[in-house]
Amino acid sequence: MNCHETQRWLYVQPHAARPDITAHIAQCVACRRAAEALFRNEREIERTALDVHVPEGLAARVLLRHHMSKKLPKPVAHD
Ligand SMILES: [Zn+2]
Repeated sequence: MNCHETQRWLYVQPHAARPDITAHIAQCVACRRAAEALFRNEREIERTALDVHVPEGLAARVLLRHHMSKKLPKPVAHD
């Protein structure tokens, strides 16, 4: 296992445990730092994704638009 394969695997399957990947990360500072940065970024994304302001009345507007779209006549095809 080399650094290229390890870091490629980390970015593709970050949560899939593989003994050879784990062993490489344990003895390679560069890959350990890459893994730590990846998981740090992932935690930051999760934290900020939950902190999104939803405008007041958005759910009602979405439901109203969905309801009204069902009432509209279907478009007529023109040749
Ligand atoms: Zn490495």
